[in-house]
Amino acid sequence: MSDETPVCSAKGCRTDAVWVLAWNNPKLHTPERRKTWLACEEHREHLSQFLGVRGFLKDVVALDEWVPDPAAGR
Ligand SMILES: [Zn+2]
Repeated sequence: MSDETPVCSAKGCRTDAVWVLAWNNPKLHTPERRKTWLACEEHREHLSQFLGVRGFLKDVVALDEWVPDPAAGR
């Protein structure tokens, strides 16, 4: 078990994350690449909209259900 609790990616927010936002910037990333942001309940919509209006948002998944892409490395 990890002792590091993932926290929300919103600026200044230290709340535990419950959502994973998967996104891709076609100008910077290959189409299969997924960057991820974490979001608490409060910031999920704000962050989704930020990515959504730019056309970057691919998926929003509950943190419990998020399976990191093994192809992404690490
Ligand atoms: Zn937050």
